[in-house]
Amino acid sequence: MNLIFLGPPGAGKGTQAKKLVQLLGIPQISTGDILRAKKEEDSPLGRQIREIMAEGKLVPDEIVVEIVKERLSQPDCEKGFILDGFPRTIPQAEALDEVLKEMGRKIDAVVYIEVPEEELIKRISGRRVCEKCGEEYHVIFKPPKVEGVCDKCGGRLIQREDDKEEVVRKRIEVYNNSTAPLIEYYEERGLLKRIDGVASMEEVFARIKKALGIN
Ligand code: ADP
Ligand code: ADP
Ligand code: ZN
Repeated sequence: MNLIFLGPPGAGKGTQAKKLVQLLGIPQISTGDILRAKKEEDSPLGRQIREIMAEGKLVPDEIVVEIVKERLSQPDCEKGFILDGFPRTIPQAEALDEVLKEMGRKIDAVVYIEVPEEELIKRISGRRVCEKCGEEYHVIFKPPKVEGVCDKCGGRLIQREDDKEEVVRKRIEVYNNSTAPLIEYYEERGLLKRIDGVASMEEVFARIKKALGIN
């Protein structure tokens, strides 16, 4: 299955995509994760990405499209993939259509996770990630067994730089202006699956499986 996970920052895209990865055995392609790794590189590109992400803005379409194109051509994507956090603009969606067409493939469904803004702020302000392995936690909704320590690898749990309140507001604004138009884009193409994302992680997962016809 070739899927897109769409939704505002903090909606639960990463959380749900990872659950589906376990179930279906197809890779999650998170442009956020790929860009976070790239921004550590000591190069002009690394620096450019670092500055943009720190402000909560979007990395230019050409850069992100190139990354995704390269990633989709890897053999583990042959069985399917979950795009998490891409596309985020109409030009990215159009570029993706083009790339998939060249590959003779297409998107099967777009899972749109709807969560109101007050709830997003709660989720993002409590989000913690493992410095070492990237596993995600929430101080209230998904706490680690030992405070500040990753259950999986013992790594230190940190708050993402761009999860600080001022940057979060900016990211939500960017989402509303640049990404929300994709809802209509995929609705028109008959691909959109609307999921009410306000429920426990397990319940949201059950809703997604139902919408995709997976039992
Ligand atoms: P996104 O990838 O859309 O930005 P995440 O999956 O990282 O969102 O979730 C944001 C934060 O909210 C994380 O700390 C995660 O543990 C928590 N979270 C995810 N889904 C739920 C849920 N259904 N209820 C409560 N908290 C959630
Ligand atoms: P979230 O879903 O929690 O907002 P992500 O990890 O998906 O966070 O994205 C973090 C940051 O990475 C974004 O604020 C943006 O700067 C950059 N980014 C990720 N995906 C894209 C994309 N498709 N286009 C442009 N910038 C992106
Ligand atoms: Zn870890």
